[in-house]
Order: sequence, then C-alpha cells, then structure tokens
Amino acid sequence: MKKDYDLIVVGAGPAGMTAGMYGVRSGLETLMVEKGICGGLSNEAPEIENYPGFKKVGGMELAEKMKEQVAEYAEIKELEEVKKIEFVKKEWVVITEKDSYRSKAVIISTGTKHRRLGVKGEDEFLGRGISYCAACDGFFFRDKPVIVVGGGDSAVREALYLKNIGCEVTLIHRREKLRAERYLEKNLEKAGVHILWNSVLKEIKGDKAVRSVVRYDREREIEDELPVEGLFISIGEEPVNELAAHVGIETDKNGYIITDKSQRTNLERVYAAGDITGGVRQVVVACAEGAIAATSAYNDLLELS
Ligand code: NAP
Repeated sequence: MKKDYDLIVVGAGPAGMTAGMYGVRSGLETLMVEKGICGGLSNEAPEIENYPGFKKVGGMELAEKMKEQVAEYAEIKELEEVKKIEFVKKEWVVITEKDSYRSKAVIISTGTKHRRLGVKGEDEFLGRGISYCAACDGFFFRDKPVIVVGGGDSAVREALYLKNIGCEVTLIHRREKLRAERYLEKNLEKAGVHILWNSVLKEIKGDKAVRSVVRYDREREIEDELPVEGLFISIGEEPVNELAAHVGIETDKNGYIITDKSQRTNLERVYAAGDITGGVRQVVVACAEGAIAATSAYNDLLELS
C-alpha cells in the first residue's frame, strides 16, 4: 500500500485532468490514475472547433496542452488500470493492476468507449480494415474507398476528416436524417460526401483485410455488396462503468453514473465527472464537471476534518 491521498481521480480525460488540477490547487493531496494515456477519447477527435479559446484544435493537441498544465500540479500515473475500488475503515482504497492507494475521496471520470456494431466480421477484421478512429488510422486509406457508419456528430466529423485527407468516402446511415449538428451536415454536403440513407450494415467480408460490406437497403428492401477497403464505425459510445457497478454506484438505465448538481454520487465522498455521467458529451462540459467534482470533494473534506 502506497501513501495516503486526499483525492484520487480515476481516468484522465478532460474531466479527470481538470479535476486533478482543481484538487491540487485547493490544497488536496491528489493522485490521477489513467489506464492509457491522458486525454481519453478526446485524443481521437480530428478537430475540435467549439472549445472556447481555440478556434480549431486537434483533440490530441488539446489533451497534451491540458496534461502539460495539470502535470505542474498533480501526480499522474498513466498506463495503470484501476481494477477495484473498496471502502475500508472509512477510507477509499483504489486497487490498480500494480498497487493500491488509500484516499479520502474519489472522482470517477472513466468516460465512454466506442459502441460496436455487433455484425459478422467486426471482430475478425478489427485492425485489418476496421477502425473506430479516423485520426488514428485514416492515413492508411488515402485515395482508397472507405465507409463511415453512423449519423451523429462523430460520424460526420470522421467522414469530413477522411474526405479531407483524400479518401473516397461514403457515409452509411440507418435512417433518412442525420443526428449531427446542422453546421456539420452542411460541411458534409459541401465536401460532397456520398451518403447512403436508410442503410443497415449487415456483414463485413474480406480475406486478409476488409474487401466489402453487405448493406441492407431498408427502403428498397434489398441487400447488396459494396466494395470497400476501410470501414470506420462511429455509432456512439457506451459508459465505462465496471468500477462503478462493482462498488455500488447508482447508474441510470443506460449505465451512466447518476450525480447531483455537485457531481456527488450516492456513495459518500465519491464523485463522477465527464462522459461517464452522460448528458451533453462535450469537452467543455467534461472540464466543468471535473472542476465541480473536485470543488465538492474539497468542501466535503473540509467538513470531515
Ligand atoms: P450519437 O450522437 O449517439 O450518434 C450515434 C449515431 O449512430 C446515430 O446517428 C445513430 O443512429 C447511429 N447508431 C447507433 N447505433 C447504431 C447501430 N447499431 N447501427 C447503425 N447506426 C447506429 O454518437 P456520437 O456521434 O458519437 O456523439 C456522441 C456525443 O458526443 C454526442 O452528444 C455528440 O453531440 C458529441 N460529439 C460532438 C462533437 C462536436 O463536434 N460537437 C463531435 C463528436 C461528438 P440514429 O440517429 O438512428 O439513432
């Protein structure tokens, strides 16, 4: 067991990094633990255009700037996955794959993960033509035919990014209307991205890599096979809530952690912030929730002492 902390932040995306910074600045001995690298899914955003102060910034660039800032304050452990959280003798114990740490308060900011389509071929061709991140893998498909699946902000942004780097992009959406911001939809039209409406992807086929997909046209009620080399699945996200479920933190019917306005969960001195709480999933909201969670922890610990 390593030293005791006042606050441990689990997950270092924008919410967690902001919480860490606010925690230390309020005088709390703070540790941040992250299973990957700081930034979370925001690392994958090709461009962010609605974070105040930055007209246009890459998701990874923004995350790196945040990390640089927070590292001046908080202790950060990257590549260390938290396996369990337990309440022992009135303190929280955060157990990772490498160690365990005691803390008076915990903020959960574990974010979300990509939703999977669940069709035949998805597991088989992952990394061999299938990707969930255009900014990470798009480069390999320059000048090649790619399909993006989805109709939300993420799918449209992925399609625009891929078009911009020179891919031949088709967007497949299961309905006849996008869910994405109108502004993004206009950019999609302007960029000339081909859209297949009312289309459901049924199967992914290939040999060593993806070669085609089977699409069901809901309007014409027919199936056809579309040749493709890259498939980018962008159909939303699901909460990373295993830690919360294990320790008994209340979640809603979709698995997002329920908090009050001060980011408090149903458990004493446990808070949640960012995408794991659902709602409006934007970097600016995640940062705000991180700041509120750390401030609530500070206030509650003041009462405790
Ligand atoms: P989303 O808004 O939940 O959209 C998911 C899309 O995938 C929907 O169009 C949905 O179709 C479709 N879909 C879901 N399950 C499917 C399935 N099994 N098969 C086929 N299609 C399926 O997810 P998102 O685009 O990842 O965005 C997540 C959140 O982040 C949103 O709040 C979004 O506003 C935010 N975000 C914002 C920006 C930005 O630039 N402002 C960028 C990225 C993300 P239906 O429409 O038919 O339901």
